[in-house]
Amino acid sequence: METVSCPYCRETNHTSCPEVMAECAYCGHRSAEVRDTYQTIVILDSADPGSWQKAEELMTEWQEQGFLEREAIVDRRVGKEEYVGSDRRMRPSWVASPLAKI
Ligand SMILES: [Zn+2]
Repeated sequence: METVSCPYCRETNHTSCPEVMAECAYCGHRSAEVRDTYQTIVILDSADPGSWQKAEELMTEWQEQGFLEREAIVDRRVGKEEYVGSDRRMRPSWVASPLAKI
């Protein structure tokens, strides 16, 4: 399990997969977090009407605090439609998959 700090209420959530958009157990806002060696990207749900402003607030806050490797973005890929089952971003892409046959 990994711990993720909710970008909205700052409570700590536990998840086995922070990359998947999930609701905060405390405030219910949806977010995801993608980390690599050099960067942490916090992804906010575009269906949340306050997400764009929140992303700007987070970026301002992190710049002031010197967390330059952190970035907040709003997820525009999923849109407002509901989906069933696993997040479609977890499926391998034809382009990116090394197993894709040409
Ligand atoms: Zn929260």
